[in-house]
Amino acid sequence: MVAEVIVDIAGSEVDRIFEYTAIEGVHPGCRVRVPFGGRVIDGYVMRLKEESEFDPSRLKPVAAVVDEALTPECLQLAEALAARYHCPKAQVLRLFLPAEMRRGQVREKQQTWVLPAGGEADISPRAKAQAAALCYLCQEGEAPLAELAAKFGRSAIGALIQKGVFRTEQRRTRRTPYTGAQGQAPSRALTPAQQAAVDTIAKSNKAVQLLHGVTGSGKTEVYLTLIAKALAAGKSAVFLVPEISLTPQMLLQLRERFGAQAAILHSGLSAGEKFDEWWRLRTGEAKIAIGARSAVFAPVENVGVIIIDEEHDGSYRSETSPRYSTAEVAAFRAKYNGCKLVLGSATPSVDTYRRAETGEYELIRLPERINKKPLPEVIVADMRQEVRRGNAGAFSGPLKDELESCLASGNQAIIFLNRRGFAQSVVCRECGAVVKCARCDVSLTYHSEENCLKCHYCGATYKMLTACPSCGGVHLSYTGTGTQKVVGELRRLFPQARVLRMDQDTAAGKEGHYKILKRFASREADILVGTQMIAKGHDFPAVTLVGILDADMSLHFSDYRSGERTFQLITQVAGRCGRAEEAGRVVLQTYDPSNYILRFAIRYDYEGFYKHEISLRASTAFPPFAKIVRVMVTAEEEKKALEVLKEVYFSLKELFDAHPQEFLFFNKMKSPVKRIQDKFRYQVLMRLTGDGLLSQIYERALQYKTRDVLVYVEENPANLS
Ligand code: ADP
Ligand code: ZN
Repeated sequence: MVAEVIVDIAGSEVDRIFEYTAIEGVHPGCRVRVPFGGRVIDGYVMRLKEESEFDPSRLKPVAAVVDEALTPECLQLAEALAARYHCPKAQVLRLFLPAEMRRGQVREKQQTWVLPAGGEADISPRAKAQAAALCYLCQEGEAPLAELAAKFGRSAIGALIQKGVFRTEQRRTRRTPYTGAQGQAPSRALTPAQQAAVDTIAKSNKAVQLLHGVTGSGKTEVYLTLIAKALAAGKSAVFLVPEISLTPQMLLQLRERFGAQAAILHSGLSAGEKFDEWWRLRTGEAKIAIGARSAVFAPVENVGVIIIDEEHDGSYRSETSPRYSTAEVAAFRAKYNGCKLVLGSATPSVDTYRRAETGEYELIRLPERINKKPLPEVIVADMRQEVRRGNAGAFSGPLKDELESCLASGNQAIIFLNRRGFAQSVVCRECGAVVKCARCDVSLTYHSEENCLKCHYCGATYKMLTACPSCGGVHLSYTGTGTQKVVGELRRLFPQARVLRMDQDTAAGKEGHYKILKRFASREADILVGTQMIAKGHDFPAVTLVGILDADMSLHFSDYRSGERTFQLITQVAGRCGRAEEAGRVVLQTYDPSNYILRFAIRYDYEGFYKHEISLRASTAFPPFAKIVRVMVTAEEEKKALEVLKEVYFSLKELFDAHPQEFLFFNKMKSPVKRIQDKFRYQVLMRLTGDGLLSQIYERALQYKTRDVLVYVEENPANLS
């Protein structure tokens, strides 16, 4: 037999199939060692066949079989993804295995166990420790060497082994994280709404289900029930969350409910833990894979359900090649396994909701909170008035008042700082206007290098402004308030309050987020100040107040999705309070109180927001009615980047000239951020009416990639900087 092997050379783009004669134990999916250019390296067996077209005497045999890492499903998925994103199969295969495993740095952990050996127990009366150890092992039957050595001393155990009274044995052990939560918590009785959701999902003939439930509507319990049903049917499950370190409570719940059947795949684990969790899934010892984006590749077989929680979250798109969409991969796996894919969110992405609206996805609603608890009341604070009144601080009058009464009643508060995109756009602090492109209705981005404003969608350039175009005010703002400054102001306003800060700086390191959230949950602080990270699905019962500083700041991000993002953020952050007995309140600070996005968010009117947004997208021809494609060309030498850009541009221009009706927009330009990490960035930006030319765009663009010049394609990129 001949094995077709993809070789795994780090950083290489080699994407050919190499043939080797198979040895005993080689089959598709095996990781093997093969001779390659004078070395022996890792490879993956894609296929076996009877004979080679080459001279069989020139084929080298496979050197060794390492393990059976890849399932048949993986092999098919690898082919599909390589074709979809035009990337080497070796690159896709790397997604399937933890990096540490591929480099062979981790092995299975062995533990030495001690058992009775049946030898003559000839122990001197003075050797008390030996006698005690013998007695102990008779009772226990067997025990780890480390435990015995700790109890009775290493020399006593050594002597017993020497005499042949004890013998040792090597056994495999698992380095399983989060060992604290292993109980088997009972499932809860579902509410009628939750039960109806579970039933609809079971009955639906559609592959993809959108669970649209307001914050606190009990989506988690629906997920847990779906997972339990899959397990009961002898199947496995995949459960994805946006960022695992931000959702410790979710993990805990899963471990409490399913114990060791749940395995966690995430970057915060040690190499050994990752290795073991991965193998527990691969062998079927664990049946539920939990993790962030990359866990969509979990090596489970016979999948009964795939769940993507907070499906709207930006982290579900990979930012490195292959730039896959997690939902797309999950849909492939759901189809392969004949199971349902469940997307859950309180604020579905416009794209997903559109698919549900048009009947492609099943739409299931949980419109009320558990126990009909009201959603928190939102109070709007007009920051323009605060400025006029001479309040230049970050806190409005209403927010200060609410904070005072929240603290006085012994509850907790969350202060949310919306920083995304802020520094790049220009806002008038007097009238709240944002400087926008005349043709595109997206806000302009400040390019400091050229000291001008640019539109990222049409490339138009505008001169810098000294006064606001709509009110003539001269207080234009280019920079945001940092968390540190906010904390300082809070300390001055409320010296007695204990304040915790969570942002990129304070939450660094393994479990950094987790530690801060845990401290807040255990009431070590009264106020938590943070950025986007604190918006995720936390459940803190004592939080009764949420303050949103600069609610409208992400509206000004130069992205067609900025309205959608703002609506999502406000709804998610507001949803953090009033989850237990006491009702919650939200103070929303804005320079633009009449903004329609904010008006919808304040009323928790997702449908209203969606209707407005979708008609806007239709009339301006933005996704989902068009596709934005960006080809990036980056290189350390600007000249080289420009040369490649030209080639890419002319090749794509041919396509554009041949099919002008497929393009709504086509242009090449510098990227807004011209240089990142010493690399010059140029781009060809396109807006397409459909996916018809997508494959050709990838092919044409990627062929110009060289060793020094990176070329990659992004579809509806999350940010255009
Ligand atoms: P969501 O994920 O939709 O925001 P959660 O799943 O966090 O909502 O549920 C909100 C709250 O309701 C949680 O505190 C949860 O423990 C509680 N809960 C959920 N389902 C039930 C149920 N069937 N009975 C009682 N309480 C429930
Ligand atoms: Zn424009």
